Amino acid sequence: MDELFRLTDEFSSLKDDCSADGRIFFSQGRIVPHDGRIIPHVGRINFFVKQRTFFKTKVLFFDTFIFTKNTGNLSLIENISIKISIRSGYMIIKECEIPLKVHMLEALMRRLPPDHARQPILNLDIKKIKAGYSGEYRVLSTLNALPEKEYLLFHDLRLIGSPFPFQMDILILTSYFLLIIEVKNMAGEIYFDNTFNQLIRTNTDGKTEAFDDPILQVNRQRQQLLEWLKSKKIFNIPVETLVVSANSSTIIRAENRDINRKVIRKDSIFIKIGEFKEKYKKKILSTRDMKRISTLLLDEHTPYIPKLLESYGIPINALQTGVYCHKCYAFSMERRLRKWICRICLHSSNDAHISALQDYVCLVKPTITNSEFRQFLQLKSPSSAKKLLTSLKLNHSGHTKGRVYSLRSIIEDRTK
Ligand SMILES: [Zn+2]
Repeated sequence: MDELFRLTDEFSSLKDDCSADGRIFFSQGRIVPHDGRIIPHVGRINFFVKQRTFFKTKVLFFDTFIFTKNTGNLSLIENISIKISIRSGYMIIKECEIPLKVHMLEALMRRLPPDHARQPILNLDIKKIKAGYSGEYRVLSTLNALPEKEYLLFHDLRLIGSPFPFQMDILILTSYFLLIIEVKNMAGEIYFDNTFNQLIRTNTDGKTEAFDDPILQVNRQRQQLLEWLKSKKIFNIPVETLVVSANSSTIIRAENRDINRKVIRKDSIFIKIGEFKEKYKKKILSTRDMKRISTLLLDEHTPYIPKLLESYGIPINALQTGVYCHKCYAFSMERRLRKWICRICLHSSNDAHISALQDYVCLVKPTITNSEFRQFLQLKSPSSAKKLLTSLKLNHSGHTKGRVYSLRSIIEDRTK
């Protein structure tokens, strides 16, 4: 999703309009939530920002928000994620987004009974991914101060390399060099052990844990990126690497002092970029080359879609079927008179089936038939299932009963 929120002049004073309780007031704009629904022009929106620490100058990211639409009839939508970009120029090409895996894990937690044995580990895994993400977010926010147009930033790119795909936390593209940044967001003390090529973390309780050496990881990414560039006939552009510790309280120790050339704290990032700028004075890529490479990187970005049920050893029949209510979260939505009505809280919705399909695509598979749709959504009528599927304008193949609908557009809304 490119520009989710086009800002008028009124929005530039956004920060000043943020009230003490975290509400922000806008006057106009267009919102496209992750589930693909388009809410056209809105009269006035009240955002309730739950994560005010994410409130930075250029990119705002609200995990959960509530907004009211004061256009005569007031409506309240809860718990949908939205990203608002306030950007000038095109500096952040691929923006910082909550990883798809978090949405997938949340779908899994929602569809499993609350007392299911896997719930605690799912919760823990979401926390770990979110911690990694918030480190990357902090580093990207810092990098936002770099001059626009000269430094193109990409977050969480995953390219198909040989023999394996490779993923880079942050990639910076300049006319003179490329820089791959691996972000570590670990509390406590980290120790780089060169003998065994591992990273040992000791947390504040004294507990130790070993991880793969991020310097080796980022070097591997460099090799794969060079191969990838070669396959696109892009030669001679130097590729540098850095490991950045995003957490300012982390104590970094190493066996080998040379490590400070490769591992830095977030606050030293501009010094390091300045050194690369000094080192590479020859302009290699024209503005046109930069645009071409940006387009290639974005086109070839292939998000990783994990098979969660398999990796957590959960059988498909453990999943709760049905359509859940966005207000009380019970799987209690029933199709009545072309609407979804919650039999518990009477909340009504026109499109609650979309959230159910998002869960399906996250957990089961990227295609669905009419009978699978009815089974997963607990819908009895084949004709209303057909109407709902047709209304989504999904690509499909086959005819009548054998028709298979592709849910790719639904997952793309989650991954863009
Ligand atoms: Zn309800």
